[in-house]
Amino acid sequence: MTIASTPRTDQLLTLRNVVKHFDISGGLLDQLRFQNGRLTRRRTTVKAVNNVSFSITAGETFSVVGESGCGKSTLARTTIGIYPPNRGEILYRDQRIDNKNAQQMLPFRRKMQMIFQDPYASLNPRKTVMQTLEEPVVFHNPRISSADVRQRVATVMSQVGVDPKWAGRYPHEFSGGQRQRISIARALMVDPEFIVADEPVSALDVSIQAQILNLLMDAQQQRGLTYLFITHDLSVVEHISTRVAVMYLGTLCELSPAKPLFETPRHPYTQALLSAIPKLGRPASQHIRLRGEVPTPIHLPSGCVFHGRCIHANQRCREEIPMPKQVETGVIVACHGIEEGRI
Ligand code: SF4
Repeated sequence: MTIASTPRTDQLLTLRNVVKHFDISGGLLDQLRFQNGRLTRRRTTVKAVNNVSFSITAGETFSVVGESGCGKSTLARTTIGIYPPNRGEILYRDQRIDNKNAQQMLPFRRKMQMIFQDPYASLNPRKTVMQTLEEPVVFHNPRISSADVRQRVATVMSQVGVDPKWAGRYPHEFSGGQRQRISIARALMVDPEFIVADEPVSALDVSIQAQILNLLMDAQQQRGLTYLFITHDLSVVEHISTRVAVMYLGTLCELSPAKPLFETPRHPYTQALLSAIPKLGRPASQHIRLRGEVPTPIHLPSGCVFHGRCIHANQRCREEIPMPKQVETGVIVACHGIEEGRI
């Protein structure tokens, strides 16, 4: 199954049918169950990402949205190589990277950087800003002179809005917003092409969020960066994204350019998500209330994973997994109801 459209030469990163499951069975004793008079062994697997495919075009901001626990952060970490996928392929500029060892991945590591959600946890409290920022540069260019490293640290600190004279300070001496600026500086130090930003503003005060988003957008324009942006905040997505992928229980349900997605959401889950965004003039009665709870990713529902909460579900939805289909240029939806013309 693939949700990616026809391959294009300017595609920077491609995921093909990527699966990431985690075995949380524990030790042998945790796996043993006494059932019907017999001792059986049972494994427990969290199915975090299931058959996800898409391509990211160079220079775009590709956002993945969904509720907490939908697998979007696992998808981000799998994309950048922190978690190896169980199945599927990940290609960077047409080269497979999911099957490379640490040594073979080095040239790609420099091009692919990540910004984490929590600027308090992602910076080493025992290292000064200078030590934090020089580390990746020296790692990837062991022969670079100290003077060049210091110059680069000062340049990038200025670009992200942190005074270079604070390079000798430790992370605890900065505010949350300044720490996230330093995290962004660390990612920019090695001149990356592709940045995965995993909820980069959700741990920050609302007043600081816009500044950090503007900084990311400025860096994209100046350096021609490509972003994979992970967030649960749809109001952020609308303003920064080129395209948006909506994820539910480890599965992509809709992939669309940002404007049509927000104007005419197709998939019933996307419709429910967007209806929850508070908007002036929209009565609360228009908020689509989903029935039931999000099922556990340990026991995925059969057929469409959304069928237990969807008012349009029929027998086919309960039995058959919907395949992604293009419904208009660039808009791809996985839904039997749309395919059958019921929605
Ligand atoms: Fe609803 Fe069926 Fe579409 Fe799933 S496939 S979203 S259950 S209509």
